[in-house]
Amino acid sequence: MTARAKPLVIAIDGPSGSGKSSLSRAVAQRLDLAYLDTGAMFRALTWWCAQNGVNLEDQSAVTRAARDLPLQMGTDPSSPSVRVGGVVIDEAIRTSEISESVSKVATNLGVRAELRDRQRALIAELVESSGGVVAEGRDITTVVAPDADVRILLMANQKARLARRAKEIDGDTEHAAVKANHAQIVSRDADAPHVSGCSTAAPVVALAGDAKPARAQPRDAGGR
Ligand code: C5P
Repeated sequence: MTARAKPLVIAIDGPSGSGKSSLSRAVAQRLDLAYLDTGAMFRALTWWCAQNGVNLEDQSAVTRAARDLPLQMGTDPSSPSVRVGGVVIDEAIRTSEISESVSKVATNLGVRAELRDRQRALIAELVESSGGVVAEGRDITTVVAPDADVRILLMANQKARLARRAKEIDGDTEHAAVKANHAQIVSRDADAPHVSGCSTAAPVVALAGDAKPARAQPRDAGGR
Protein backbone atom coordinates (compact mmCIF):
# COMPACT_ATOMS: atom_id res chain seq x y z
CA MET A 1 0.00 0.00 0.00
CA THR A 2 1.25 3.48 -0.80
CA ALA A 3 0.53 6.78 0.90
CA ARG A 4 -2.16 8.67 -1.02
CA ALA A 5 -2.32 12.42 -1.56
CA LYS A 6 -5.36 12.75 0.67
CA PRO A 7 -5.90 10.16 3.40
CA LEU A 8 -9.25 8.42 3.41
CA VAL A 9 -11.12 7.05 6.41
CA ILE A 10 -14.24 5.01 5.71
CA ALA A 11 -16.42 3.92 8.65
CA ILE A 12 -18.91 1.08 8.18
CA ASP A 13 -21.29 0.04 10.97
CA GLY A 14 -23.97 -2.61 11.05
CA PRO A 15 -25.36 -5.50 13.08
CA SER A 16 -24.18 -9.13 12.95
CA GLY A 17 -24.54 -10.71 9.55
CA SER A 18 -25.32 -7.48 7.69
CA GLY A 19 -22.41 -8.21 5.37
CA LYS A 20 -20.25 -5.34 6.63
CA SER A 21 -17.07 -7.43 6.84
CA SER A 22 -17.28 -8.55 3.23
CA LEU A 23 -18.15 -5.04 2.11
CA SER A 24 -15.40 -3.42 4.20
CA ARG A 25 -12.71 -5.80 2.98
CA ALA A 26 -13.79 -5.45 -0.64
CA VAL A 27 -13.79 -1.64 -0.43
CA ALA A 28 -10.38 -1.63 1.28
CA GLN A 29 -8.93 -3.94 -1.38
CA ARG A 30 -10.42 -1.92 -4.22
CA LEU A 31 -9.16 1.42 -2.83
CA ASP A 32 -5.84 0.04 -1.57
CA LEU A 33 -6.61 0.91 2.04
CA ALA A 34 -5.98 -0.88 5.32
CA TYR A 35 -8.86 -2.72 7.02
CA LEU A 36 -9.72 -2.67 10.71
CA ASP A 37 -12.21 -5.15 12.21
CA THR A 38 -13.11 -3.63 15.58
CA GLY A 39 -15.45 -6.52 16.49
CA ALA A 40 -12.38 -8.76 16.40
CA MET A 41 -10.80 -6.54 19.07
CA PHE A 42 -13.70 -7.19 21.46
CA ARG A 43 -13.46 -10.89 20.63
CA ALA A 44 -9.68 -10.90 21.24
CA LEU A 45 -10.18 -9.36 24.67
CA THR A 46 -12.85 -11.97 25.48
CA TRP A 47 -10.42 -14.74 24.48
CA TRP A 48 -7.61 -13.19 26.54
CA CYS A 49 -9.85 -12.98 29.62
CA ALA A 50 -10.74 -16.67 29.23
CA GLN A 51 -7.05 -17.58 28.88
CA ASN A 52 -6.18 -15.65 32.04
CA GLY A 53 -9.15 -16.66 34.14
CA VAL A 54 -10.57 -13.12 34.29
CA ASN A 55 -14.19 -13.20 35.44
CA LEU A 56 -16.25 -11.33 32.84
CA GLU A 57 -18.64 -10.16 35.58
CA ASP A 58 -15.77 -8.28 37.24
CA GLN A 59 -15.93 -5.09 35.19
CA SER A 60 -12.80 -3.49 36.67
CA ALA A 61 -10.73 -6.61 36.07
CA VAL A 62 -11.92 -6.82 32.47
CA THR A 63 -11.17 -3.11 31.96
CA ARG A 64 -7.64 -3.69 33.30
CA ALA A 65 -7.27 -6.62 30.92
CA ALA A 66 -8.32 -4.31 28.05
CA ARG A 67 -5.59 -1.86 29.07
CA ASP A 68 -2.92 -4.60 29.23
CA LEU A 69 -4.03 -6.64 26.20
CA PRO A 70 -0.95 -7.30 24.00
CA LEU A 71 -2.98 -7.01 20.81
CA GLN A 72 -1.69 -6.75 17.27
CA MET A 73 -4.21 -6.22 14.50
CA GLY A 74 -3.18 -7.37 11.01
CA THR A 75 -4.87 -4.89 8.70
CA ASP A 76 -4.25 -6.27 5.22
CA PRO A 77 -7.79 -6.61 3.80
CA SER A 78 -6.84 -9.73 1.81
CA SER A 79 -5.66 -11.55 4.95
CA PRO A 80 -6.64 -9.73 8.14
CA SER A 81 -5.36 -11.31 11.33
CA VAL A 82 -5.49 -10.95 15.08
CA ARG A 83 -2.58 -11.77 17.39
CA VAL A 84 -2.44 -11.59 21.15
CA GLY A 85 0.97 -11.96 22.75
CA GLY A 86 2.27 -13.17 19.39
CA VAL A 87 -0.33 -15.97 19.14
CA VAL A 88 -2.58 -15.98 16.07
CA ILE A 89 -6.16 -16.27 17.32
CA ASP A 90 -8.17 -15.81 14.11
CA GLU A 91 -10.02 -19.09 14.57
CA ALA A 92 -10.11 -19.09 18.35
CA ILE A 93 -12.11 -15.84 18.44
CA ARG A 94 -14.86 -17.21 16.15
CA THR A 95 -15.89 -20.12 18.38
CA SER A 96 -19.39 -20.20 19.82
CA GLU A 97 -17.94 -19.84 23.36
CA ILE A 98 -16.47 -16.48 22.42
CA SER A 99 -19.56 -15.43 20.43
CA GLU A 100 -21.73 -16.22 23.45
CA SER A 101 -19.64 -14.28 25.95
CA VAL A 102 -18.38 -11.31 23.92
CA SER A 103 -21.46 -9.19 24.76
CA LYS A 104 -20.42 -9.12 28.42
CA VAL A 105 -17.15 -7.57 27.36
CA ALA A 106 -18.67 -5.25 24.74
CA THR A 107 -21.21 -3.80 27.19
CA ASN A 108 -18.51 -2.94 29.76
CA LEU A 109 -18.12 0.84 29.49
CA GLY A 110 -14.54 0.82 30.81
CA VAL A 111 -13.62 -1.63 28.06
CA ARG A 112 -15.39 0.47 25.43
CA ALA A 113 -13.37 3.55 26.42
CA GLU A 114 -10.09 1.58 26.26
CA LEU A 115 -10.85 -0.01 22.91
CA ARG A 116 -12.20 3.25 21.48
CA ASP A 117 -8.85 4.90 22.26
CA ARG A 118 -6.94 2.00 20.72
CA GLN A 119 -9.16 2.07 17.64
CA ARG A 120 -8.62 5.81 17.19
CA ALA A 121 -4.85 5.40 17.59
CA LEU A 122 -4.82 2.54 15.08
CA ILE A 123 -6.84 4.55 12.56
CA ALA A 124 -4.39 7.47 12.93
CA GLU A 125 -1.43 5.11 12.42
CA LEU A 126 -3.03 3.54 9.37
CA VAL A 127 -3.73 6.94 7.86
CA GLU A 128 0.01 7.62 8.15
CA SER A 129 1.25 4.21 7.01
CA SER A 130 -1.35 3.20 4.42
CA GLY A 131 -3.04 6.40 3.33
CA GLY A 132 -6.29 5.39 4.97
CA VAL A 133 -8.47 2.66 6.37
CA VAL A 134 -11.87 1.06 6.21
CA ALA A 135 -12.92 0.51 9.84
CA GLU A 136 -15.95 -1.61 10.60
CA GLY A 137 -17.93 -2.14 13.78
CA ARG A 138 -20.96 -0.88 15.65
CA ASP A 139 -19.98 2.61 16.75
CA ILE A 140 -17.36 3.68 14.23
CA THR A 141 -19.65 6.14 12.43
CA THR A 142 -20.84 7.68 15.70
CA VAL A 143 -18.18 7.37 18.41
CA VAL A 144 -14.82 6.14 17.16
CA ALA A 145 -14.56 8.10 13.90
CA PRO A 146 -17.51 10.49 13.61
CA ASP A 147 -15.33 12.69 11.36
CA ALA A 148 -14.62 9.87 8.88
CA ASP A 149 -14.71 10.94 5.23
CA VAL A 150 -17.39 8.36 4.47
CA ARG A 151 -19.81 6.87 6.99
CA ILE A 152 -22.13 4.00 6.15
CA LEU A 153 -24.67 2.10 8.21
CA LEU A 154 -25.28 -1.25 6.54
CA MET A 155 -28.53 -3.00 7.39
CA ALA A 156 -30.07 -6.28 6.29
CA ASN A 157 -33.31 -7.95 7.24
CA GLN A 158 -33.03 -10.51 10.04
CA LYS A 159 -33.56 -13.56 7.81
CA ALA A 160 -30.68 -12.56 5.54
CA ARG A 161 -28.47 -11.77 8.52
CA LEU A 162 -29.10 -15.12 10.18
CA ALA A 163 -28.45 -17.03 6.98
CA ARG A 164 -25.21 -15.10 6.36
CA ARG A 165 -23.91 -15.70 9.88
CA ALA A 166 -24.87 -19.40 9.80
CA LYS A 167 -22.95 -19.79 6.57
CA GLU A 168 -19.91 -17.98 7.99
CA ILE A 169 -19.90 -20.08 11.14
CA ASP A 170 -21.20 -23.47 10.04
CA GLY A 171 -20.68 -23.38 6.30
CA ASP A 172 -24.32 -23.91 5.50
CA THR A 173 -27.67 -22.16 5.52
CA GLU A 174 -29.71 -25.19 6.52
CA HIS A 175 -32.52 -24.67 8.96
CA ALA A 176 -30.74 -26.14 11.99
CA ALA A 177 -27.67 -23.94 11.61
CA VAL A 178 -29.79 -20.82 11.14
CA LYS A 179 -31.84 -21.73 14.19
CA ALA A 180 -28.77 -22.45 16.32
CA ASN A 181 -27.37 -19.02 15.61
CA HIS A 182 -30.64 -17.19 16.01
CA ALA A 183 -30.64 -16.79 19.79
CA GLN A 184 -26.97 -15.85 19.87
CA ILE A 185 -27.24 -13.16 17.21
CA VAL A 186 -30.48 -11.71 18.53
CA SER A 187 -29.05 -11.49 22.03
CA ARG A 188 -25.76 -9.92 20.82
CA ASP A 189 -27.69 -7.32 18.84
CA ALA A 190 -30.03 -6.68 21.75
CA ASP A 191 -27.06 -5.91 24.01
CA ALA A 192 -25.47 -3.50 21.59
CA PRO A 193 -27.99 -0.60 21.42
CA HIS A 194 -27.32 0.89 24.84
CA VAL A 195 -23.64 1.04 24.18
CA SER A 196 -23.12 1.40 20.48
CA GLY A 197 -26.55 2.20 19.04
CA CYS A 198 -26.22 1.03 15.46
CA SER A 199 -29.99 0.60 15.19
CA THR A 200 -30.35 4.29 14.39
CA ALA A 201 -28.30 6.14 11.84
CA ALA A 202 -26.63 9.41 12.79
CA PRO A 203 -27.85 12.32 10.63
CA VAL A 204 -25.33 12.28 7.80
CA VAL A 205 -24.54 8.58 7.77
CA ALA A 206 -25.37 6.90 4.46
CA LEU A 207 -27.75 3.96 4.73
CA ALA A 208 -27.28 0.81 2.70
CA GLY A 209 -28.87 -2.63 2.63
CA ASP A 210 -32.42 -3.89 2.54
CA ALA A 211 -33.63 -3.00 6.04
CA LYS A 212 -33.79 0.62 7.04
CA PRO A 213 -33.24 1.76 10.63
CA ALA A 214 -34.80 4.90 12.07
CA ARG A 215 -32.98 8.11 11.24
CA ALA A 216 -31.88 9.77 14.48
CA GLN A 217 -32.60 13.47 14.98
CA PRO A 218 -29.47 15.65 15.12
CA ARG A 219 -29.56 15.95 18.90
CA ASP A 220 -29.44 12.12 19.24
CA ALA A 221 -26.35 11.77 17.11
CA GLY A 222 -22.81 11.45 18.28
CA GLY A 223 -22.79 9.38 21.41
CA ARG A 224 -19.34 10.72 22.19
O1 C5P B 1 -19.04 -8.00 14.69
P1 C5P B 1 -18.70 -9.04 15.72
O2 C5P B 1 -19.77 -10.07 15.93
O3 C5P B 1 -17.35 -9.67 15.51
O4 C5P B 1 -18.59 -8.22 17.09
C1 C5P B 1 -18.27 -8.88 18.30
C2 C5P B 1 -18.97 -8.17 19.46
O5 C5P B 1 -18.41 -6.87 19.65
C3 C5P B 1 -20.48 -7.98 19.29
O6 C5P B 1 -21.10 -8.20 20.56
C4 C5P B 1 -20.61 -6.51 18.90
O7 C5P B 1 -21.84 -5.96 19.36
C5 C5P B 1 -19.44 -5.89 19.65
N1 C5P B 1 -18.90 -4.70 18.97
C6 C5P B 1 -19.07 -3.48 19.58
N2 C5P B 1 -18.51 -2.35 19.02
C7 C5P B 1 -17.78 -2.45 17.88
C8 C5P B 1 -17.60 -3.72 17.26
C9 C5P B 1 -18.18 -4.83 17.81
O8 C5P B 1 -19.73 -3.38 20.63
N3 C5P B 1 -17.22 -1.34 17.37
